[in-house]
Amino acid sequence: MAINVLPDYCSLGFIGPGKMAESIARGVVKSGILPANRICTASHRNKTREDVFQSFGVNIVENNKQVVKNSTIIFISVKPQIVKKVLVELKDDLNDKILVSIAAGIKLKDLQELSGHDRFIRVMPNTPSAVGEAASVMARGDGLEEKDVKYVSDILGAVGKIWEIEEKYFDAVTGLSGSGPAYIYLAIEAMADGAVAAGLTRDLALNLASQTVLGAATMATQSGKHPGQLKDDVTSPAGTTIAGVHELEKGGFRGILMNAVCAAANRSRELS
Ligand code: NAD
Repeated sequence: MAINVLPDYCSLGFIGPGKMAESIARGVVKSGILPANRICTASHRNKTREDVFQSFGVNIVENNKQVVKNSTIIFISVKPQIVKKVLVELKDDLNDKILVSIAAGIKLKDLQELSGHDRFIRVMPNTPSAVGEAASVMARGDGLEEKDVKYVSDILGAVGKIWEIEEKYFDAVTGLSGSGPAYIYLAIEAMADGAVAAGLTRDLALNLASQTVLGAATMATQSGKHPGQLKDDVTSPAGTTIAGVHELEKGGFRGILMNAVCAAANRSRELS
């Protein structure tokens, strides 16, 4: 995929040097869309986080205000309950900045009201951004120019795939792709456990399980076939795979996954 390198005047700042900010920053640096020396964050008195960001070249500055000063695009990447505090703290410094909130459950309307700023984009990313495979969505606020949206879209496009959607779908997206990596980690671990029970070494089992998920996801995204068709293609009559599928269905596998997405979406609704 061709990368749109951002213009020289673009720089990126993270308010909140947590896991999600790290995943995006790592992915951005890896992609080459923006060099690490044009990215900054403030460590918020946490030496460990400072070391993590410095290890891949991101600048650590004194405080949140300095992050804002140094950056044209600012990701608000603190926990949702801290968003109000940082926006009130930074309100007077935001001027012409492009703001991006990745906080779960906080609506554009509230972000705009709290900050007195209408150049906000709301994004729901996920942690595979660290390896260039994020599934992200975004919804734009009122005061953005097309080029502002494009910069943010290019950043998120550099660390995975990005879709622009209506904000009303954010809770459902949170339940699916925001929380989804954890569901798949459980599946990988459980499949590997099964293989260990069947006699494989742990190391081989984990590698095979992870690669199987990667291969199946690649088939689902690239073959042009519906997943039901892909399943039918690999289940021969009286074969091994249909025996495994039968056990999954007896255990309510599909219903459990549907419930997981709905529960996380409902929790997102409760938090917003
Ligand atoms: P995290 O706890 O790893 O990161 C939050 C960081 O903010 C911490 O490093 C903390 O020290 C710092 N912080 C706390 N108060 C601060 C302040 N006043 N100023 C600056 N920094 C401060 O959390 P995370 O998992 O990275 O989540 C961050 C945001 O990303 C959340 O709003 C979450 O809803 C959203 N998000 C997370 C995921 C995910 O998979 N983790 C996915 C999508 C969205």
